[in-house]
Amino acid sequence: MDILILGCGSSVGSPIIGKRLASFDSKDFRTRSSVLVNVDNKKILIDSGADFRYQALKNNIEDISFVLYTHSHADHTHGIDDLRIFSYMKQERINCFGNPYTVRDIKKNFSYIFDINNKSGRPRINLIEINDNFIEQGIEVKPLKIKHRDWDILGYRINNFAYITDCSMIPDETLNTLYNLDLLILDSLRYTSHEAHLSVDQAIEISNKLKPKKTVLTHMSSELKYEDLLSYLPKNIAPGFDGMSIKI
Ligand SMILES: [Zn+2]
Ligand SMILES: [Zn+2]
Repeated sequence: MDILILGCGSSVGSPIIGKRLASFDSKDFRTRSSVLVNVDNKKILIDSGADFRYQALKNNIEDISFVLYTHSHADHTHGIDDLRIFSYMKQERINCFGNPYTVRDIKKNFSYIFDINNKSGRPRINLIEINDNFIEQGIEVKPLKIKHRDWDILGYRINNFAYITDCSMIPDETLNTLYNLDLLILDSLRYTSHEAHLSVDQAIEISNKLKPKKTVLTHMSSELKYEDLLSYLPKNIAPGFDGMSIKI
Protein backbone atom coordinates (compact mmCIF):
# COMPACT_ATOMS: atom_id res chain seq x y z
CA MET A 1 0.00 0.00 0.00
CA ASP A 2 1.41 3.37 -1.02
CA ILE A 3 0.26 6.75 0.18
CA LEU A 4 1.25 9.82 -1.79
CA ILE A 5 0.72 13.23 -0.26
CA LEU A 6 -0.48 15.39 -3.16
CA GLY A 7 -0.81 18.45 -0.94
CA CYS A 8 -0.51 19.25 2.75
CA GLY A 9 -1.27 22.97 2.90
CA SER A 10 -4.02 24.82 4.70
CA SER A 11 -7.08 26.23 2.92
CA VAL A 12 -5.15 29.15 1.38
CA GLY A 13 -2.02 27.13 0.60
CA SER A 14 1.54 28.15 1.36
CA PRO A 15 2.67 30.79 0.55
CA ILE A 16 -0.47 32.88 0.93
CA ILE A 17 -1.25 35.06 -2.09
CA GLY A 18 0.28 38.50 -1.55
CA LYS A 19 2.61 37.35 1.22
CA ARG A 20 6.18 36.36 0.54
CA LEU A 21 7.25 33.14 2.20
CA ALA A 22 10.44 33.61 4.18
CA SER A 23 11.80 30.22 3.15
CA PHE A 24 13.87 28.67 0.39
CA ASP A 25 12.90 25.14 1.41
CA SER A 26 10.67 23.57 -1.25
CA LYS A 27 8.96 21.58 1.55
CA ASP A 28 7.48 24.84 2.84
CA PHE A 29 5.57 25.37 -0.42
CA ARG A 30 2.31 23.51 0.01
CA THR A 31 -0.72 22.99 -2.19
CA ARG A 32 -4.15 22.25 -0.75
CA SER A 33 -4.49 18.99 1.23
CA SER A 34 -5.16 15.73 -0.57
CA VAL A 35 -3.72 12.21 -0.79
CA LEU A 36 -3.68 9.40 -3.31
CA VAL A 37 -3.83 5.89 -1.85
CA ASN A 38 -2.61 3.03 -4.03
CA VAL A 39 -3.86 -0.28 -2.68
CA ASP A 40 -4.29 -3.54 -4.64
CA ASN A 41 -3.82 -1.54 -7.85
CA LYS A 42 -6.74 0.72 -6.99
CA LYS A 43 -6.06 4.47 -6.90
CA ILE A 44 -8.14 6.16 -4.26
CA LEU A 45 -8.20 9.94 -4.19
CA ILE A 46 -9.11 11.59 -0.90
CA ASP A 47 -10.48 15.06 -1.73
CA SER A 48 -10.12 16.98 -4.98
CA GLY A 49 -9.03 20.43 -3.89
CA ALA A 50 -8.43 23.57 -5.89
CA ASP A 51 -4.90 22.37 -6.79
CA PHE A 52 -5.98 18.94 -8.02
CA ARG A 53 -5.16 19.49 -11.70
CA TYR A 54 -1.65 20.68 -10.88
CA GLN A 55 -1.14 17.80 -8.45
CA ALA A 56 -2.34 15.23 -11.01
CA LEU A 57 0.07 16.55 -13.65
CA LYS A 58 3.00 16.84 -11.26
CA ASN A 59 2.56 13.27 -10.02
CA ASN A 60 1.64 11.69 -13.38
CA ILE A 61 -1.73 10.49 -12.12
CA GLU A 62 -3.43 8.69 -15.00
CA ASP A 63 -6.22 6.88 -13.24
CA ILE A 64 -8.58 7.43 -10.33
CA SER A 65 -10.56 4.38 -9.20
CA PHE A 66 -12.82 6.27 -6.77
CA VAL A 67 -12.90 9.39 -4.62
CA LEU A 68 -13.52 9.87 -0.90
CA TYR A 69 -14.58 13.31 0.29
CA THR A 70 -13.86 14.41 3.85
CA HIS A 71 -16.16 17.46 3.64
CA SER A 72 -17.32 20.13 1.24
CA HIS A 73 -15.04 23.08 2.01
CA ALA A 74 -13.61 24.73 -1.11
CA ASP A 75 -10.03 23.61 -0.45
CA HIS A 76 -11.22 19.98 -0.55
CA THR A 77 -13.70 20.04 -3.44
CA HIS A 78 -12.97 22.81 -5.93
CA GLY A 79 -10.92 20.57 -8.22
CA ILE A 80 -13.94 18.32 -8.82
CA ASP A 81 -14.31 19.47 -12.43
CA ASP A 82 -10.90 17.95 -13.22
CA LEU A 83 -12.32 14.49 -12.54
CA ARG A 84 -13.85 15.04 -16.00
CA ILE A 85 -10.73 13.90 -17.79
CA PHE A 86 -10.42 10.75 -15.65
CA SER A 87 -14.02 9.70 -16.36
CA TYR A 88 -13.43 10.49 -20.02
CA MET A 89 -10.20 8.46 -20.24
CA LYS A 90 -11.74 5.27 -18.93
CA GLN A 91 -15.22 5.92 -20.34
CA GLU A 92 -16.74 5.15 -16.97
CA ARG A 93 -18.42 7.13 -14.26
CA ILE A 94 -16.31 7.65 -11.14
CA ASN A 95 -17.87 6.82 -7.79
CA CYS A 96 -17.40 9.57 -5.20
CA PHE A 97 -18.34 9.13 -1.55
CA GLY A 98 -19.13 11.51 1.29
CA ASN A 99 -21.41 11.86 4.29
CA PRO A 100 -24.94 13.25 3.72
CA TYR A 101 -23.87 16.88 4.42
CA THR A 102 -21.01 16.66 1.98
CA VAL A 103 -23.16 15.09 -0.75
CA ARG A 104 -25.84 17.76 -0.24
CA ASP A 105 -23.31 20.61 -0.44
CA ILE A 106 -21.45 19.25 -3.47
CA LYS A 107 -24.76 18.83 -5.32
CA LYS A 108 -25.66 22.43 -4.45
CA ASN A 109 -22.25 24.01 -5.09
CA PHE A 110 -21.64 22.15 -8.37
CA SER A 111 -25.22 21.76 -9.58
CA TYR A 112 -24.14 21.89 -13.26
CA ILE A 113 -22.50 18.46 -12.81
CA PHE A 114 -25.84 16.87 -11.90
CA ASP A 115 -28.00 18.72 -14.43
CA ILE A 116 -28.98 16.08 -16.99
CA ASN A 117 -30.06 18.80 -19.43
CA ASN A 118 -26.57 20.32 -19.40
CA LYS A 119 -24.87 19.25 -22.62
CA SER A 120 -21.53 20.97 -21.93
CA GLY A 121 -18.47 19.22 -20.51
CA ARG A 122 -18.89 18.01 -16.97
CA PRO A 123 -17.37 15.21 -14.91
CA ARG A 124 -19.26 11.93 -15.04
CA ILE A 125 -19.48 10.97 -11.40
CA ASN A 126 -21.81 9.12 -9.07
CA LEU A 127 -22.05 10.90 -5.74
CA ILE A 128 -22.87 8.39 -3.05
CA GLU A 129 -23.86 8.99 0.60
CA ILE A 130 -22.10 6.89 3.19
CA ASN A 131 -22.21 6.68 6.96
CA ASP A 132 -20.76 3.29 7.73
CA ASN A 133 -18.05 0.94 6.54
CA PHE A 134 -18.38 -0.09 2.91
CA ILE A 135 -16.53 -2.04 0.25
CA GLU A 136 -15.76 -0.43 -3.10
CA GLN A 137 -13.93 -2.32 -5.85
CA GLY A 138 -12.79 -4.87 -3.26
CA ILE A 139 -11.34 -2.26 -0.87
CA GLU A 140 -12.83 -1.93 2.61
CA VAL A 141 -13.24 1.74 3.55
CA LYS A 142 -14.02 2.81 7.11
CA PRO A 143 -15.43 6.34 7.46
CA LEU A 144 -14.23 8.04 10.67
CA LYS A 145 -16.67 10.48 12.26
CA ILE A 146 -14.81 13.57 13.47
CA LYS A 147 -15.60 17.20 14.34
CA HIS A 148 -14.54 20.22 12.26
CA ARG A 149 -15.60 23.02 14.60
CA ASP A 150 -19.30 22.12 15.16
CA TRP A 151 -19.54 20.29 11.87
CA ASP A 152 -19.65 16.48 11.47
CA ILE A 153 -17.16 15.47 8.80
CA LEU A 154 -15.26 12.30 7.91
CA GLY A 155 -11.76 10.95 8.04
CA TYR A 156 -11.09 7.55 6.48
CA ARG A 157 -9.34 4.33 7.47
CA ILE A 158 -8.18 1.84 4.84
CA ASN A 159 -6.37 -1.17 6.28
CA ASN A 160 -3.74 0.22 8.68
CA PHE A 161 -3.76 3.72 7.26
CA ALA A 162 -5.94 6.58 8.53
CA TYR A 163 -6.37 10.06 7.11
CA ILE A 164 -7.78 12.77 9.36
CA THR A 165 -7.73 16.35 8.13
CA ASP A 166 -9.70 19.45 9.17
CA CYS A 167 -10.28 18.08 12.62
CA SER A 168 -10.96 19.95 15.85
CA MET A 169 -11.94 16.88 17.88
CA ILE A 170 -11.98 13.11 17.52
CA PRO A 171 -14.87 11.56 19.50
CA ASP A 172 -13.99 8.58 21.72
CA GLU A 173 -15.95 6.11 19.59
CA THR A 174 -13.77 7.08 16.61
CA LEU A 175 -10.55 7.16 18.65
CA ASN A 176 -11.25 3.57 19.67
CA THR A 177 -11.10 2.49 16.01
CA LEU A 178 -7.72 4.14 15.44
CA TYR A 179 -5.35 1.80 17.22
CA ASN A 180 -2.83 -0.47 15.49
CA LEU A 181 -2.16 1.94 12.64
CA ASP A 182 0.97 1.83 10.52
CA LEU A 183 0.37 5.38 9.34
CA LEU A 184 -1.78 8.21 10.62
CA ILE A 185 -1.95 11.40 8.57
CA LEU A 186 -3.28 14.06 10.92
CA ASP A 187 -4.44 17.68 10.77
CA SER A 188 -2.04 20.17 12.37
CA LEU A 189 -2.76 23.74 11.32
CA ARG A 190 -0.36 25.82 13.41
CA TYR A 191 1.32 26.09 16.83
CA THR A 192 -1.51 28.12 18.41
CA SER A 193 -4.99 26.70 18.90
CA HIS A 194 -7.77 27.09 16.34
CA GLU A 195 -11.46 26.32 16.79
CA ALA A 196 -11.73 24.23 13.60
CA HIS A 197 -8.34 22.49 13.51
CA LEU A 198 -5.83 20.66 15.68
CA SER A 199 -2.73 22.54 16.74
CA VAL A 200 0.71 20.93 16.55
CA ASP A 201 0.64 20.06 20.27
CA GLN A 202 -2.88 18.61 20.03
CA ALA A 203 -1.78 16.45 17.09
CA ILE A 204 1.22 15.23 19.13
CA GLU A 205 -1.08 14.39 22.04
CA ILE A 206 -3.38 12.31 19.83
CA SER A 207 -0.45 10.55 18.20
CA ASN A 208 1.03 9.74 21.63
CA LYS A 209 -2.29 8.25 22.70
CA LEU A 210 -2.92 6.16 19.58
CA LYS A 211 0.73 5.17 19.03
CA PRO A 212 0.65 4.54 15.26
CA LYS A 213 3.99 3.39 13.86
CA LYS A 214 4.27 6.72 12.09
CA THR A 215 2.32 9.99 12.15
CA VAL A 216 2.58 12.57 9.38
CA LEU A 217 1.16 16.07 9.81
CA THR A 218 -0.94 17.77 7.13
CA HIS A 219 -3.10 20.86 6.43
CA MET A 220 -0.26 23.04 7.68
CA SER A 221 -0.32 26.83 7.50
CA SER A 222 2.57 28.79 6.03
CA GLU A 223 3.83 29.67 9.52
CA LEU A 224 4.94 26.06 10.05
CA LYS A 225 8.41 25.58 8.63
CA TYR A 226 9.39 22.01 7.77
CA GLU A 227 12.85 22.01 9.37
CA ASP A 228 11.74 23.79 12.57
CA LEU A 229 8.82 21.41 12.94
CA LEU A 230 10.99 18.35 12.32
CA SER A 231 13.25 19.26 15.23
CA TYR A 232 10.24 20.09 17.45
CA LEU A 233 8.38 16.80 16.86
CA PRO A 234 8.97 13.43 18.54
CA LYS A 235 10.82 10.83 16.44
CA ASN A 236 7.74 8.97 15.14
CA ILE A 237 6.00 12.15 13.94
CA ALA A 238 7.03 14.03 10.82
CA PRO A 239 5.70 17.02 8.95
CA GLY A 240 4.36 16.07 5.54
CA PHE A 241 5.45 17.69 2.32
CA ASP A 242 3.94 17.78 -1.15
CA GLY A 243 5.11 14.71 -3.06
CA MET A 244 5.94 12.69 0.10
CA SER A 245 5.45 9.00 -0.59
CA ILE A 246 5.03 6.46 2.20
CA LYS A 247 4.90 2.70 1.79
CA ILE A 248 3.24 0.67 4.53
ZN1 LIG B 1 -9.28 22.33 4.68
ZN1 LIG C 1 -12.43 22.46 6.20
